[in-house]
Order: sequence, then structure tokens, then C-alpha cells
Amino acid sequence: MSLSVTFLGTGGSVPNKFRNLPSVLVRRGPELLLFDCGEGTQKQFLQAKAGTNRKMRIFISHLHGDHIFGLPGMLHSLSFMGRTRDLEIIGPRGVAQFVRSVNRAVRLYSRFPISVREVSAGRVINDPEYEVRAAWGRHGIPCLAYAFQEKPRSGKFDPVKARSLGIPEGPLWKRLQNSPAITFKGRRILSRSVVGPPRRGLKLTYAVDTRPCAQVAKLATGSDLLIHDSCFNETAASKARDYGHSTASEAASVARKGKVRELVLFHISAMYEDPTPLLKEARRVFPHTTLCKDMETVRVYP
Ligand SMILES: [Zn+2]
Ligand SMILES: [Zn+2]
Repeated sequence: MSLSVTFLGTGGSVPNKFRNLPSVLVRRGPELLLFDCGEGTQKQFLQAKAGTNRKMRIFISHLHGDHIFGLPGMLHSLSFMGRTRDLEIIGPRGVAQFVRSVNRAVRLYSRFPISVREVSAGRVINDPEYEVRAAWGRHGIPCLAYAFQEKPRSGKFDPVKARSLGIPEGPLWKRLQNSPAITFKGRRILSRSVVGPPRRGLKLTYAVDTRPCAQVAKLATGSDLLIHDSCFNETAASKARDYGHSTASEAASVARKGKVRELVLFHISAMYEDPTPLLKEARRVFPHTTLCKDMETVRVYP
């Protein structure tokens, strides 16, 4: 199954004419995962036509306004659009109080249940088909990077081999795919004789508002897609250091070290109307780098 990744907002700190505040929507089959919820996310989300009543989880990296101020609006819009399914919000300490305070002040969302879970580094989701792990970035306040990783899928079934072994198409094929062996007409047939080795699942890492650091690099290792803070270019490297961000080439170094397949530069400072210098600098270090516009969708294939 492929993943569809829509960049709802790719800017940082303040929005400008070209970039909204950070939010990334991942569609996996019928399920939605939203990473951060900067102001204005609900408008972008509705425009992406992702559906308002799907299984959905929202991951918040940290409690700086540009990553969380969109949450009240998002919850309000989802309720208004008729959401009835529960929604899980995951984030570092303080996220529950934020949601509680807003809800106490303005009764925003009574139509669907919301659960908020405060998490730390480690595994934060263990779904039958995937897990999400978190690691602390290096920023002014506690900030989590998240890695979504699909669990290995069973190997590819070879119908030609199955037929050559005389196994008729039907339920026996399914049993062979899902169990180590079957017995057919007194013969024991090992699944590995018709099913290939397990297939690795897709991995996507979302790491914003961080200096390049070992924990995030480790978390990102082997990602098919790494979305990494690239607030500045090299001429503003001191700003990146002072404000706990990364330059585009620093993001590219993380991608190179972690042997990721593709890097997307993200959280682009509003001072860059034309972000070409960031892209050029990053590609010098890691050629498989892109810089997306708002509302652009990237598909990640196995
Ligand atoms: Zn930010
Ligand atoms: Zn921040």
C-alpha cells in the first residue's frame, strides 16, 4: 500500500503569501495521520478533501504556537462538518492542558469524542499494521520528532509456482500465504516454496523545529521519506543555531547519514520568498531532496 503525503503548510513561525504554517497530512488507505496543526490547517485540510469522518490521529511536535494554534479551529471544523468518530491527539506534556483550556473557554466540539495522550520518546502507537515512534529533537522547548513505520508485510505469492505444485486457486492459496505450511492430499507444502520473503513496510519521519541531532538522525534512519526542519540557508546558519532550527544542508546531512530515500525540506522561514538557495545547498549534500509547495502531494511507494 502506498502512502500519500500532502503538505498542508510548509512554512514556519509566521505564514506568508506562499506558505501556511506547518501541517502534514498522511493518507494510508482509509486512515489519516496529521502531523502538527498550525493556524489555518483546517482550511487546507478541507481543501485536500481527505474526508472528515475517517479514522484519524493528530500528532503534535511541540507547544509553539505555529504548530498547535490550528488545533481548536480544526476540531471546530471537524465537528461542524459532522464528524462522529473519535479522534486521538498525541503530543508532548502540555498538549492535554492546551486542549482542556480551549474546551473550557469555548465549547468547541461536543459531537465527537477526543482523547489526548501525552507521550515521550519511544513507541507511541502500536497498531496492528504500523507503529509510530518518537524521539526528542533539540529545540528551545521539548519537541518530538515522529517516525511512522509499517510492520513487515507477508511475502509475494507466486501463483505460477502454486499451480505447478498442483494446488488449486482458492482458500488453500490464502492459507499458504498466511501460515508456515499446509497439508494437501497428504503432502506437506511449505509456504516459503510459493511465498517470497516478508516485505519491508514504508517508513516516514517527521522532524521539525530541531537542530540536527543524534536522536533524530537515529529515528530517521532508513526512512523512505524524511520531512526535516530546514528553516534557513547557510548564510543564516547562526539564526538556525540561535533559534533551535536546522539549515537545509544540515537537514541534508541527516538524510545522508540516515540513508533515507527522499528528503523534503520543511518549515521554510517566511524570509525566503524564493527558496531555491535552500534546495541548491541541500542537493549538494543529498541529491534526493525536494522542497514542496503548500498543498503538494507526494506519493511514497514500497
Ligand atoms: Zn515552528
Ligand atoms: Zn518551535
